[in-house]
Amino acid sequence: MANQKMLGFVHTAQTMPDKRSAAERRQDFNEIYARFSTERANEQANRCSQCGVPFCQVHCPVSNNIPDWLRLTAEGRLEEAYEVSQATNNFPEICGRICPQDRLCEGNCVIEQSTHGAVTIGSVEKYITDTAWEQGWVKPRTPSRENGQSVGIIGAGPAGLAAAEELRAKGYAVHVYDRHDRMGGLLVYGIPGFKLEKDVVGRRVKLLADAGVVFHPNFEVGRDASLADLRAKHVAVLIATGVYKARDIKAPGCGLKNIVPALEYLTTSNKVSLGDSVAAYDDGSLNAKGKKVVVLGGGDTAMDCVRTAIRQGATSVKCLYRRDRKNMPGSQREVAHAEEEGVEFVWQVAPEGFTGEDVVTGVRAVRIHLGVADATGRQTPQVIEGSEFTEPADLVIKALGFEPEDLPGAFGAPDLTVTRWGTLLVDHRTKMTAIDGVFGAGDIVRGASLVVWAIRDGRDAADSIHAYAQALKADALATAAE
Ligand code: FAD
Repeated sequence: MANQKMLGFVHTAQTMPDKRSAAERRQDFNEIYARFSTERANEQANRCSQCGVPFCQVHCPVSNNIPDWLRLTAEGRLEEAYEVSQATNNFPEICGRICPQDRLCEGNCVIEQSTHGAVTIGSVEKYITDTAWEQGWVKPRTPSRENGQSVGIIGAGPAGLAAAEELRAKGYAVHVYDRHDRMGGLLVYGIPGFKLEKDVVGRRVKLLADAGVVFHPNFEVGRDASLADLRAKHVAVLIATGVYKARDIKAPGCGLKNIVPALEYLTTSNKVSLGDSVAAYDDGSLNAKGKKVVVLGGGDTAMDCVRTAIRQGATSVKCLYRRDRKNMPGSQREVAHAEEEGVEFVWQVAPEGFTGEDVVTGVRAVRIHLGVADATGRQTPQVIEGSEFTEPADLVIKALGFEPEDLPGAFGAPDLTVTRWGTLLVDHRTKMTAIDGVFGAGDIVRGASLVVWAIRDGRDAADSIHAYAQALKADALATAAE
């Protein structure tokens, strides 16, 4: 029976977990928020209004049963809260840390809309699952029996890992192939430690290995095997390779040294934090220490770059973005964190070129006026005549977004149909590509998106692969019986 009444929002204010001071945060790559205490988690979960239509759940890509696990937390029934939470999400503690809750569950919380301040859903989710790990409630999902079929998964990001866990639990021999040395995709080599510490990902990968998932690191499909090779080995193959081709800027001076792509910069920083030695970091080409840094872009990747540069000891860090704060794609929370840490945002500015002889010395830019809204409702950026200026820079990081690589070419699979944007074309009900038994999930299907959508896609793809493999088995049995 409930020993707590919900609706606590009428008397309890919204609180986030304690945040480390900006001065302390600048010194390391550790996460910036502490965990809720038990008391605080109960109190904050108790603020939920248990509204009739849970818009938090409606706006959650994995349809998390949020009101139920908030209630269980408020009642101190934490193990049950964990059971409910993990039933719809393979990595709740990761989503609790890095989902843009302000745009998803929390942004749509009824008490947020009534100006009381949303329930701090992400922080409670993180608290529940971190506690579950500590208490030993998180167990490998080893199947009760092997089903004799195997599935190959290309890519060990959240889409591939979520599918791997689901398929393994159903009894498949699961083989995950990844071109990197560590598993996790952008969870490990894109997103910095101050948002997601790497041991949080590492313990998940170990859990999957303990369940029997076989990982093949340093295995690049297209180099070490073709798609057809893998298809011949497995009853089905899932492509979950993400999107990695960086959008570039073509402008005078763009070939100068020290103008670098965001992901190379972030991957290097993550490798260094993990203890690897990286030559490009040691020789200073991918290291912001002592430099005036300019980051181009306004999305999550740009936010991660500016905050990484601060931690590496840049003398100044500026973010140039062509629209205003209100219209930037990055999370408003991340912008606030970056500003606290000393990043300067220069809004409504567009780069036009770079100065320097051999190495970049500045970004030539113009100021932008936001004109009338276009068909999508976004105001069109217009250059203000005579507004040219040069922003001094020793390191320029390009965070302008990502596109898919040429997958049919790389995989030696011309039959793999792609959209006009280069993303994998799949049947949206089954996730199957144009090749029989080959499925797609995550960013390579959606374009650059979110971890939680990758998890959702991985789970859906696992269901479809299961249905496909079961049907094959049934056909084989029927044929044998004839
Ligand atoms: P990925 O995570 O990209 O994983 C794909 C994997 O496939 C990689 O490990 C790659 O090595 C492997 N691979 C690729 N090609 C091959 C091949 N030929 N052979 C073998 N392996 C291959 N989302 C959020 O929700 N919150 C955030 O805060 C956030 N921050 C981000 C910060 C950055 C810097 C970036 C770049 C993205 C961020 N995202 C964030 C987006 C999120 O990381 C992605 O949407 C998500 O990781 C996509 O998952 P995925 O499994 O589809 O692909």
